[in-house]
Amino acid sequence: MTGIDDLPIRDELRGKSPYGAPQLEVPVRLNTNENPYPLPEPLVARIAERVTEAARNLNRYPDRDAVELRTELARYLSRTAGLEVGVAQVWAANGSNEVLQQLLQTFGGPGRTAIGFEPSYSMHALISRGTGTGWISGPRNDDFTIDVDAARRAIAEHRPDVVFITSPNNPTGTAVAAETVLALYEAAQAARADAAGALVVVDEAYGEFSHRPSLLPLIEGRPRMVLSRTMSKAFGAAGLRLGYLAADPAVVDAVQLVRLPYHLSAVTQATALAALEHTDTLLGYVEALKAERDRLVSELRTLGCEVTDSDANFVQFGRFEDAHAAWQSLLDRGVLVRDNGVPGRLRVTAGTPAENDAFLDAVRELMKEKS
Ligand code: PMP
Repeated sequence: MTGIDDLPIRDELRGKSPYGAPQLEVPVRLNTNENPYPLPEPLVARIAERVTEAARNLNRYPDRDAVELRTELARYLSRTAGLEVGVAQVWAANGSNEVLQQLLQTFGGPGRTAIGFEPSYSMHALISRGTGTGWISGPRNDDFTIDVDAARRAIAEHRPDVVFITSPNNPTGTAVAAETVLALYEAAQAARADAAGALVVVDEAYGEFSHRPSLLPLIEGRPRMVLSRTMSKAFGAAGLRLGYLAADPAVVDAVQLVRLPYHLSAVTQATALAALEHTDTLLGYVEALKAERDRLVSELRTLGCEVTDSDANFVQFGRFEDAHAAWQSLLDRGVLVRDNGVPGRLRVTAGTPAENDAFLDAVRELMKEKS
């Protein structure tokens, strides 16, 4: 039988595993930071209308520059994220993973490096590998905040071409202060002053769930700062696959060099536009989820867990001597959470109140067993 390694694949892919959060059929699925609320019926109907219209033109390629969609995304950011941005500053792709891939294809690549502060979103390292970009694992403090001095030192030492800052961070839920982002931006530009600077990517996939305002205003006057967002979480549309970035128009021009022609299908553009018409209803669900997230933090603490403060739609909790055994024992009780490989800790996504109750009941039993 032929295995992957018998094929002439690139050396750096040999022996590696793909991204793979388990997709298991269990009663309570709280493992991939999805929004638990299905889209409201009036929005489902609007999507059907918009997609029907798009279907009549499917013999043609879609709007390659997705101008209407980018205009509406710019309006959404301008209204909710603290900075007026225009269509020339916004770019969209199939999920923010594709946005990040396009950024690495443009600003990373063979002979170049990217740094992230781990534990963080595992795809930053995986997309780096996929694009031939060297990966540097930067440090965090024991409380999972970014150690600014250590981060600065790592940037000065490795002189990365791309710096990832995830705020709120996945899997820890930790928000990053604007001053920290600015300090790392300055450090990254200073380290590569001889080479047109470095790109700093603020991954704000969970931005809408934060107690803090968006970091979007930081892009103003900083052409090497990019903010990445997604409709997968706050808009409850993980199945849609729509991510976007906001940055200087030059960054948007630069990613055109690597994007595939017509990468965003007409169906995707129509669906995303319909969802953006229902922003206020969807942001109402975000408020409910933030309250449930805060409840999870406080109830887990009451149950004796060590819980990391969270600004996202998920919560990191522990500590377990054997996190994987704890994960299995919650699964045996019908609750799927995530083991991200952070020693002693697991991550739970905020679900509906009923799902969260089921999860908390399972943890209560687990903690009893433990003591
Ligand atoms: N960034 C972070 C920090 C994430 O956690 C995720 C999804 N889990 C993404 C980006 C990618 O999301 P999507 O491709 O669905 O937009």
